[in-house]
Amino acid sequence: MRELEYLRPTDAAEAVAAVTGHPGARFLAGGTNLVDHLRLGVATPELLVDVRRLPLDQVEEVETPDGPGLRIGANVRNSDLAADRRVRSLFPAVSRALLSGASGQIRHQATTAGNLLQRTRCVYFQDVTTPCNKREPGTGCSAIGGYDRYNAILGASEECVTVHPSDLAVGLAAVDATVVVLGPHGERRLPLTDLHRLPDDRPDEDTTLHHGDLITAVELTASPMVRASTYYKARDRASYAFALVSVGAALELAEDGTVADVRIAWGGVAHKPWRARRAEDALRGRPLTEDAVRAAAEEELADADASAGAAYKVPMVRNATAMVLTRLAREATR
Ligand SMILES: Cc1cc2nc3c(=O)[nH]c(=O)nc-3n(C[C@H](O)[C@H](O)[C@H](O)COP(=O)(O)OP(=O)(O)OC[C@H]3O[C@@H](n4cnc5c(N)ncnc54)[C@H](O)[C@@H]3O)c2cc1C
Ligand code: SF4
Repeated sequence: MRELEYLRPTDAAEAVAAVTGHPGARFLAGGTNLVDHLRLGVATPELLVDVRRLPLDQVEEVETPDGPGLRIGANVRNSDLAADRRVRSLFPAVSRALLSGASGQIRHQATTAGNLLQRTRCVYFQDVTTPCNKREPGTGCSAIGGYDRYNAILGASEECVTVHPSDLAVGLAAVDATVVVLGPHGERRLPLTDLHRLPDDRPDEDTTLHHGDLITAVELTASPMVRASTYYKARDRASYAFALVSVGAALELAEDGTVADVRIAWGGVAHKPWRARRAEDALRGRPLTEDAVRAAAEEELADADASAGAAYKVPMVRNATAMVLTRLAREATR
């Protein structure tokens, strides 16, 4: 049996100091991902700093730098966040993304920050008997030439071809969320789209955070466009299944029916929530038709590189994007 130290601070700065000062320390929130990894031998921390007593469990109405919005504490449970009436009405993509993830029981235990920082579901990552550069740098990638149905089609590297599993992260990318981080040198804010990284030659690093950085909150700014947002997830079963591909989107139409602004985020296609900025640029100022969305998605997918088993994701994400945006357009003109 491995020995493990456990701390349960009530002050965020204390939690940050405890992890920063110990290379083998990890934050623990709902435990639905980290505890699994402890049991599997994928994670071997020496100190667990439980953050659940930190006062980070409220959804508050705040003035963000870009206008009125919500500040979601890092410890807000996924079930509470999905049910929050302000989130449901002002940021439907966020609520729908949460409700499409995991199961009721897991959502009740899982937290906002923990969901964003959950690790990949790659089967090789979770099996310590197989080579995996993300789990053990330099050992190789078993998914290349192996079981490839869930592999990335965008932004992968020769070191790692896995995808990011969080639905919430994709919903938040579609509404331009900001992440608030407390580190050893104070607080900073970063766009959600800058939180996760592509694998490049360091697939063991999932995010741009440093050891000891604590996510304290996620901030959302309200606008008519994000009020007209949604999330769609294609998966093998209706519940308890990660995304094959998913689409978070927000749309604002001009009076003449052309696209005034649009945001498109894809899940299940890359090592991070993928903001389809090329597709967004292709759609702005154009009439929103199904063909226009398909063509825009094609532009985004020009660099797609899919292994045989994951090739279905290319048409799937294109079709899903066309369906989601044409539905949003119909609702906007109703
Ligand atoms: C059977 C099953 C099905 C699932 N299906 C889905 C699904 O369909 N979609 C989906 O999105 N997810 C799914 N999940 C994943 C689940 O949503 C995550 O396990 C959960 O959200 C993680 O949250 P947690 O609070 O339990 O995190 P923990 O397990 O406690 O922590 C996860 C990681 O976050 C770090 N961490 C936690 N809080 C902070 C903080 N404040 N600051 C910095 N680091 C922090 C921890 O150190 C750890 O590395 C599924 C899980 C299971 C077990
Ligand atoms: S795809 Fe990434 S996580 Fe999966 S085996 Fe390869 S290196 Fe590991």
